[in-house]
Amino acid sequence: MDYETEPPGCQPDKGIVVYDWIPHLQSLLFPVHCRLCAGRTGTTVSLCADCSTDLPWLGSACRQCGGSVPGADSLLLCGACQRRPPHFDATTALLHYRPPVDYLVQRLKFSGELAIAPLLSGLLAKQVSSPGAALPDVLVPVPLHPSRLRERGFNQATEIARLLGRRLQLTVNHRLCRRTRNTDAQSLLPVKIRHWNVRNAFAVTERIPARHVAIIDDVMTTGHTVNELARVLKRAGAERVDVWVIARAGH
Ligand SMILES: [Zn+2]
Ligand SMILES: [Zn+2]
Repeated sequence: MDYETEPPGCQPDKGIVVYDWIPHLQSLLFPVHCRLCAGRTGTTVSLCADCSTDLPWLGSACRQCGGSVPGADSLLLCGACQRRPPHFDATTALLHYRPPVDYLVQRLKFSGELAIAPLLSGLLAKQVSSPGAALPDVLVPVPLHPSRLRERGFNQATEIARLLGRRLQLTVNHRLCRRTRNTDAQSLLPVKIRHWNVRNAFAVTERIPARHVAIIDDVMTTGHTVNELARVLKRAGAERVDVWVIARAGH
């Protein structure tokens, strides 16, 4: 179900229009219900059109950090990025971390509902693959510390990256970076000390084989975690680091 956001329909193939009947047949035989309102979606997507429209989509945002820039367009930089640019070069954030997005992310992360990952990664794939977009050479999920990975059983960022990679035909490398310190959850700490909490929390295990890297995570709050990861990626040879996240919190 990695392609679950792809609606059934006609797809051009080598000049011949081929009816993509398998997903259509699937939706008839096994009707898919919306993850939010439980209504039938009529497609293989587990989100109906109305619920999709009602999601808290991010509007105009700073092109570098994804933070809100009131009244500005997405080509502008926010004041914070102008004063002190982060190590990453651009951010694609899809949604505000508000209901029902927080519900979906928490069900994925803490209740292990992995079926939510294709839905969220499918929405993000559409956003990043707009015509003319410069796609990265490799996707790097934000790593969890091994002890937290054992506790949870999976890394939601790796799940999202794996699905994005398959859909966009991009390489995913979840072994390139590792978390060397089991840091406190950033969300539990005052904003002022989050920077110190993640300092030297990551190590890159090999020279970066790619010039353009995208860091993948579920939620970005202050950006300190991805900024620290971008710093070590650039030190290891990456020329450009983008950040792709499902949701932006606190904006
Ligand atoms: Zn719905
Ligand atoms: Zn910014």
